[in-house]
Amino acid sequence: MQECDVVVVGAGPSGSTAARYAAVRGARVLLHEEHAEVGEPVQCAGLFSENALKACDIEQSERCIVHPIRGAFIYSPGGRELCIDSHRDIAYVVERCLLDRLMADRALDSGAEIILKSHVTGVGEYDGGARVVKFNNGGEIQYVRSKVVIGADGAQSTVGRLAGLDAPGRMLSGVQFEVAYDVRDENFVEVFLGSEFAPGFFAWSVPLTDSIARVGICCYSTTQGEAVKNLRNLIETHPVVSGRCRDSVLGLNMGGVPLEPPGKTVGDGIMIVGDAAGHVKPTSGGGVYMGATCAKIAGEVAADAVGKGDSSAKALAGYEQGWRNAVGRELSIGLKLHDIFRNLSDRELDKAIEALGDESLMRLIVEYGDMDHPSILIRKLLMHRSSPAVFKSLVKAWLRDKGYRTTS
Ligand SMILES: Cc1cc2nc3c(=O)[nH]c(=O)nc-3n(C[C@H](O)[C@H](O)[C@H](O)COP(=O)(O)OP(=O)(O)OC[C@H]3O[C@@H](n4cnc5c(N)ncnc54)[C@H](O)[C@@H]3O)c2cc1C
Repeated sequence: MQECDVVVVGAGPSGSTAARYAAVRGARVLLHEEHAEVGEPVQCAGLFSENALKACDIEQSERCIVHPIRGAFIYSPGGRELCIDSHRDIAYVVERCLLDRLMADRALDSGAEIILKSHVTGVGEYDGGARVVKFNNGGEIQYVRSKVVIGADGAQSTVGRLAGLDAPGRMLSGVQFEVAYDVRDENFVEVFLGSEFAPGFFAWSVPLTDSIARVGICCYSTTQGEAVKNLRNLIETHPVVSGRCRDSVLGLNMGGVPLEPPGKTVGDGIMIVGDAAGHVKPTSGGGVYMGATCAKIAGEVAADAVGKGDSSAKALAGYEQGWRNAVGRELSIGLKLHDIFRNLSDRELDKAIEALGDESLMRLIVEYGDMDHPSILIRKLLMHRSSPAVFKSLVKAWLRDKGYRTTS
């Protein structure tokens, strides 16, 4: 049977990063991807913060970058509008398929081997310091013995479960059409709020050109079909979107958006990372920044454990500690904010958007707004004298509900 140090399952941004960082540290790495090509099918709006690009080690001049974004138009359920203009580039629209391929190429250049059309179907017990991984490679069943297996197999991950780890706590649905669209400004995204169109979360348009946009929603829905229905409703009846969308739908993509990492992401000879581990920002549903950040730690810890000849759960525990130190606090604050936001009524959203239009609050948003660390801005907003009363009282009510003491 073939032997290796680290098997990584899934060549998305998390898998390619983990494979690359493990290979750079000297591990023999096999990266399995079930599709014939890396990067397909795309399940992404392709909106990346500067930090997300850095986490992926991608430069702003690379060919996967479409154009920069400097702000957002936010539309409340009752038709109020808020324009946030940072007056500088704060994010980028990317071609996700190209980005995934660039990242996989870099894993390859670092010494990892990529096996395409290889669907991992089994992960054996940890025995003698390794696990046997079963995979279907273009119709042929094969096995490889590996000291560490890294499950970077996305939202519908099975690798962690096969090795006895729990799934993330909740799953939202993301659905998106690429459509002909009268784009308001190529450097601004649009965000649409309200229970009618995106219950519990939000809808968006991300401009690709001045006449094409990715229009999508991420929401709590029982089925993907229900999420598609919500998106159609947005496109056909939303006062802003319906006026901008032209007839032609150029593409559709959809997927799960997992939130809330499980209590354990490490076991004997096993780690999970990225969407598979719920490394997704609860305030936006974006997963690439956190996935790549955590994957670097996973790759390095895996290689170091192999180097020391011990890949037990204890030897891999540095990964769990490392990623929780890096993003754990932001994830748990993000989840609290997500739940507060999710419980706002349409009326409260209208009031909050109106209040955030205040000039001094807007200055705070522009100065402290950070797509990857929203807790910094939220703290500033809550401390500010003009902060929306509705927002403050909701936070207090939520904290009381969770058993925290608050001042009156
Ligand atoms: C509609 C939508 C829009 C989104 N927009 C954004 C956005 O704008 N910005 C952002 O940051 N995030 C966005 N996200 C989230 C983002 O796409 C994910 O967080 C990100 O792709 C996670 O990366 P990953 O490497 O962990 O998993 P994935 O990118 O899902 O990669 C997993 C890989 O594993 C492979 N695989 C799965 N099972 C197996 C198996 N058994 N054997 C072999 N291979 C396997 C899959 O084929 C896939 O290539 C969006 C999600 C959705 C659904």
